[in-house]
Amino acid sequence: MLFGEQQDLGIGQKYAPEVEKQMGGRIDNDALQNYMNSVGQKIAAVSHRRSWEYHFAALEHDSLNAFALPGGYVFITKGMLKELTTEAQLAGILAHEVGHIVARDSAALMSREIGIDILLAAAASQTNSRGAMTAAQLTRQIIGLRFSRKDERDADLAGLGYMVRAGYNPNGMVETMQMLERENTVRPIEFFSTHPAPANRMTYLRARIEARYRALPSLKDGKDEYRAAILDHLKDE
Ligand SMILES: [Zn+2]
Repeated sequence: MLFGEQQDLGIGQKYAPEVEKQMGGRIDNDALQNYMNSVGQKIAAVSHRRSWEYHFAALEHDSLNAFALPGGYVFITKGMLKELTTEAQLAGILAHEVGHIVARDSAALMSREIGIDILLAAAASQTNSRGAMTAAQLTRQIIGLRFSRKDERDADLAGLGYMVRAGYNPNGMVETMQMLERENTVRPIEFFSTHPAPANRMTYLRARIEARYRALPSLKDGKDEYRAAILDHLKDE
């Protein structure tokens, strides 16, 4: 790793507004954002980096996607929110992204694939000089970055632990994989261009749940809460 946590934060702070802009802006609904953020904060509070400040934003984009920027920035799209049915599923998606942030996967990948000096320079000067890439162009590249299978597996399993510690039924994460697999037969899923196939992920998630979390008392699914806070708001859109 060529740079520290301060630089993670610098990149996150500079590119988060550009990501929001390119993904249609934030969904204009405080109740929805607050609910989504409260679920995310519960996950962050039991993660391996609790001292960081985490930001969770729901974006207007219709694609089925979720991703993270270094330094504590997590994004989920309207397209994804519409396909989920419980708070535990939402927790599973957010916990996976927090897993990437904690492992500093995004920072390492962006450093390797793009170069931190380039990212910082482009963010500093919003103008395109001498053919250098603009922050907007780099943001498109950032959104499409692909982690290794190992990074994805680690983020899944760390995320599974976080959601259980936060009081959520870990099967929620498996259900999101089933949803993605089902949806993929109907339309191309953006999440798949950056993530491994769900079948493989479900196998190790189910094994982990069986080994570690089977004996736990009943954990939260939150179907009614999710419908009231998210689905009812998105129904007419
Ligand atoms: Zn991932």
